[in-house]
Amino acid sequence: MRYFEIFISIHIIIIPDIARYYDIEKMYDVIIIGAGPAGLTAGIYAVRRALKVMIIEKTAVGGQILLAKEVENYPGFGHISGKDLADKMGSQARDLGVEIIMDEVMGMDLKREIKTIITRENQYRGKAVIIATGGIHKKLGIRGEKEFAGKGVSFCATCDAPFFKDKIVAVIGGGDSAVNDALYLSEIAKKTYLIHRREHLRAEEVRQKKLLERGVELILNTVVEEINGDELVDSISIRNVKTGEIKKLDVGGVFISIGSVPSTLMARSAGVEVNEREHIVVNKDQETNIPGVFAAGDVTGGIMQISTAVGEGCIAALSAYKYIKNHSRQ
Ligand code: NDP
Repeated sequence: MRYFEIFISIHIIIIPDIARYYDIEKMYDVIIIGAGPAGLTAGIYAVRRALKVMIIEKTAVGGQILLAKEVENYPGFGHISGKDLADKMGSQARDLGVEIIMDEVMGMDLKREIKTIITRENQYRGKAVIIATGGIHKKLGIRGEKEFAGKGVSFCATCDAPFFKDKIVAVIGGGDSAVNDALYLSEIAKKTYLIHRREHLRAEEVRQKKLLERGVELILNTVVEEINGDELVDSISIRNVKTGEIKKLDVGGVFISIGSVPSTLMARSAGVEVNEREHIVVNKDQETNIPGVFAAGDVTGGIMQISTAVGEGCIAALSAYKYIKNHSRQ
């Protein structure tokens, strides 16, 4: 058990005592953790079943979609920016009566009939909990990645691209996020490389075709071994995994876009079952191993798309509604 998990466990064991010292303790039907597409959809469906619903979000309403400059595969919207889509989903949820608070969850007690969620600011109780915490950026774990974070190394092209106007940049990764980032950067940077460790990208073919049209240079079968520089990044050391050849590539920016790891620390500490990739295990009704606790979106793994997150959020909310109704009749 890691130190942080021990801290959380201790915190949970003493919840009943701590509760007396909190000023406010609010009761909800459903508490949703995470305001990405899954959490917001769960909120919309739950509130329309006349449930009292709250979403707790740590960073920003919209989650990972805020990082997408363009979304082109969400039905009903030909082209929409991730931010606009997030704003629309957030407003719809709020207008329907979902309470969204910005706070960070520090501990959860999920095994009792009434669940307790402890945040930095408060403590909340709910009859059902939906975990929609998504994931956080994966790191390469190479020299220079941490040292040059914010000094040429970025995990968010949408946020940082303007700083790289007319520079040479490299995007690392072969999925849809990396290809999206490379496409976006190609509009701003002088030159954009996309470096992927395999022969083939796994991104959508439509997107891949655009890479060629926009002049992005693909460097395949290649890994980045080190990020170099003095004050700022000035080059990367890359190795061809087939030939073993190592060379330096002059770049002023490195965008790491190699997927995410699920944010499940709190859930795991509270006894929610995860699989070997640390995704929360759910059944077709989005139920976890703990009665009254559901999960939806990227945190459950599988096909991580906005459309699937929305679908899972809907199912989780309707399952939570059924659970609450069944329990209130007893
Ligand atoms: P993915 O997991 O799909 O892709 C990650 C990429 O990074 C893979 O190509 C992988 O290589 C590579 N990679 C992983 N670890 C390393 C490492 N240590 N070193 C080098 N390369 C590494 O993540 P994405 O963030 O791209 O996408 C996540 C999900 O979100 C996907 O389902 C995607 O389709 C979806 N998405 C949808 C968008 C949309 O507009 N609808 C936009 C962006 C993402 P390998 O192939 O070898 O495993």
